[in-house]
Amino acid sequence: MNDYEVLLNRAKDLHGEVCPGVIMGTRMSIAAMKKLNMDPLKPNENLIVTVETDRCMPDAVQAITGCTVGRRTLKCRDYGKFVATFVDMTTGEAVRVSAKDDLVDSTPGLWTWFKDVAELAREKNMPKVMEEKKSAIKKLSEMPDEDLLSLVELQIDDTEIPGIPQHIVTCSVCGEHVMDKKEIIVGGKPVCQFCAD
Ligand SMILES: [Zn+2]
Ligand SMILES: [Zn+2]
Repeated sequence: MNDYEVLLNRAKDLHGEVCPGVIMGTRMSIAAMKKLNMDPLKPNENLIVTVETDRCMPDAVQAITGCTVGRRTLKCRDYGKFVATFVDMTTGEAVRVSAKDDLVDSTPGLWTWFKDVAELAREKNMPKVMEEKKSAIKKLSEMPDEDLLSLVELQIDDTEIPGIPQHIVTCSVCGEHVMDKKEIIVGGKPVCQFCAD
């Protein structure tokens, strides 16, 4: 097995199957870690990743990077986008990775596939959907990084650092504690987002 297959297998074990989202998450993690001079075969203690979808891709990111929600090293901001930002906490370097066919006039990739299979699924052509899924897995695995992914370097936001919480308040409605400035101020008093909703 080559390195890619080893890493894809880790993603498959966590996610339960290999699907186009898992391929993307695997490719995105490998490309971002390499860009940050990290070895994708070794989970890196200094890495924090924010994913912008809760579909499939985050499992591959977790399996490969070792980042998890409970360690505050994996964050999901569900914007419904196949985008992930990888931050090296030691250097402050960050890389935002997205699917290249988000951009106009690029090589057909993930989104082209999604649109094609959505059409087939509407027509209830499930055998063809499965066939397309198989060919997308192969195609997305084999596309060169420069055709599949777009990488942008960024500056980090240092309020997201893990470790001992520096800012703790009590919700003025339910009395529960709220960390990391996640409270909302209502009438001059802190309220947790659950009570505010
Ligand atoms: Zn999946
Ligand atoms: Zn509350």
